[in-house]
Amino acid sequence: MKYFSFHAEMAENENFQLPSKAELKKKLTAMQYHVTQEKGTERAFTGKYYKTSEAGTYSCVVCHQELFSSDAKYDSGCGWPAFRNVLQQGLVKLSKDTTHVGANLLLLVTDRSAGMVRTEVSCTRCGAHLGHVFNDGPLPAKTRFCINSAALHFEPHQVAVEANGTE
Ligand SMILES: [Zn+2]
Repeated sequence: MKYFSFHAEMAENENFQLPSKAELKKKLTAMQYHVTQEKGTERAFTGKYYKTSEAGTYSCVVCHQELFSSDAKYDSGCGWPAFRNVLQQGLVKLSKDTTHVGANLLLLVTDRSAGMVRTEVSCTRCGAHLGHVFNDGPLPAKTRFCINSAALHFEPHQVAVEANGTE
């Protein structure tokens, strides 16, 4: 329940200039544009990152704000990248998805069985739609951020190739 305190307070961030729709259309693929700007959803099991298990950081494909760590990623079997949590508070905004009747944060927090509730997840810096969050994830927090690959950019950690035996 703790993590639900994150919305609001944060958003007034830096001097990020959101590119115009026309610029974004050029910069993004059709699917990236559709997901982030039109709240689209890529088809399950078609995204670039749903199976990725490398160590690294996932950032917003539009503004490159870092959002999720591979440490929090797990295979939920749902066909989209799933994360237990965001890197830190304030990176994503949660809002009720009005396309679903009865979706409401309070319900999501209090009713542990509310698998039907959809809460939209978007980037606080640029407003890009990312995906949804559900509360049917793994214990203890049960949080499942179900995020479109098309909304993410993955940056693998630089792995230092060290010889064995040294620290
Ligand atoms: Zn963003």
